[in-house]
Amino acid sequence: MKPFTYVRPADARAAIAAAGDGSASFLAGGTTLVDLMRLEVMTPSAVVDLSPLPLTQIERAGDGLRIGAMTRNSAVATHPLVLERYPLLAHALLAGASQQVRNMATVGGNLLQRTRCPYFRDLAVACNKRAPGSGCSAIDGFTRSHAILGTSEACIATHPSDMCVALAALDAVVHTRGAGRERAIPFAEFHTLPGDHPEVENALEPGELVTHIELPASPFAAHARYVKVRDRAAFAFALASAAVGLDVADGKIRAARIALGGVATRPWRAAEAEQALVGQAPGRASFERAAAAAIVDPKPRRDNAFKIALAKRTIVRALELAWGAA
Ligand SMILES: Cc1cc2nc3c(=O)[nH]c(=O)nc-3n(C[C@H](O)[C@H](O)[C@H](O)COP(=O)(O)OP(=O)(O)OC[C@H]3O[C@@H](n4cnc5c(N)ncnc54)[C@H](O)[C@@H]3O)c2cc1C
Ligand code: SF4
Repeated sequence: MKPFTYVRPADARAAIAAAGDGSASFLAGGTTLVDLMRLEVMTPSAVVDLSPLPLTQIERAGDGLRIGAMTRNSAVATHPLVLERYPLLAHALLAGASQQVRNMATVGGNLLQRTRCPYFRDLAVACNKRAPGSGCSAIDGFTRSHAILGTSEACIATHPSDMCVALAALDAVVHTRGAGRERAIPFAEFHTLPGDHPEVENALEPGELVTHIELPASPFAAHARYVKVRDRAAFAFALASAAVGLDVADGKIRAARIALGGVATRPWRAAEAEQALVGQAPGRASFERAAAAAIVDPKPRRDNAFKIALAKRTIVRALELAWGAA
């Protein structure tokens, strides 16, 4: 591990000042950051410990919910308000990592976790995300875990988070504080596509702190489900996952939410699939039509074309479970 300065700030203002130009990193639960510092994939000049900051609230915000950035994943997944109003978020969190990791991992850190592309973690090979302009070892490498949606010629890495797939489906808003201002960033604008600059992964400015996320009121609590397909039941990231919600009245779907994980470079909303469900009767036929509409212009590589069919089947399964879960 490269040497760094440890900073324990008194408050958010001091944390943001210490993070400065972005050469420092915020430390939340450390389950991503410390791993990557040990590998020297991340080499911050300073580590700014967020644990003294009062960012652990889970509280009503109007008809919605506000969750502090330092709230542990396990605390969110078991909170009564989350279970009652946003069970989709609890399902997704409980599908991630292990109980021990969830006890450490925070909401802010989960939003900002880095890709699990194996080439990103291997200093001996080229990676545009780790060393901009060096090339992408994955494109002609082993691509079974990589993305088929939102890719570029510079990077095909997936966004690994389960939680973020549910937050995409639930239209979360990410609240931040920087040196000069506070911002509310719609979830769809928070994570960026790799394009020519895969080293840029989100809309945060250098030193900007995520303070909390907000969830709007949701009509999907009665019919919501997260399904994750992976190689084994723990410590495995999604090959494909789907977070879905249905709002059904008088036998017809009034609104639907479908977001995908494991197949795209950022948490992926399947807007066409959602539209395909509106006005339809819930059931296998309409679910299969929606799944067929979900994967638009995929770019499979040598080892990951199976994800096209897998993602569609995952959507159908999630919709069936959500509809049957009343
Ligand atoms: C063995 C293992 C298995 C895992 N399996 C899964 C899985 O199946 N599914 C899944 O989704 N995840 C999985 N994870 C990843 C895990 O969810 C993340 O490591 C965790 O959510 C990161 O949270 P943290 O609080 O530990 O973040 P940290 O490691 O402390 O920080 C991560 C990044 O976020 C930044 N950051 C943290 N908080 C803030 C903030 N408030 N504002 C701005 N920047 C901030 C840090 O600077 C750092 O760059 C796994 C991790 C491990 C170690
Ligand atoms: S896919 Fe992205 S993260 Fe993986 S090697 Fe290529 S540039 Fe790096």
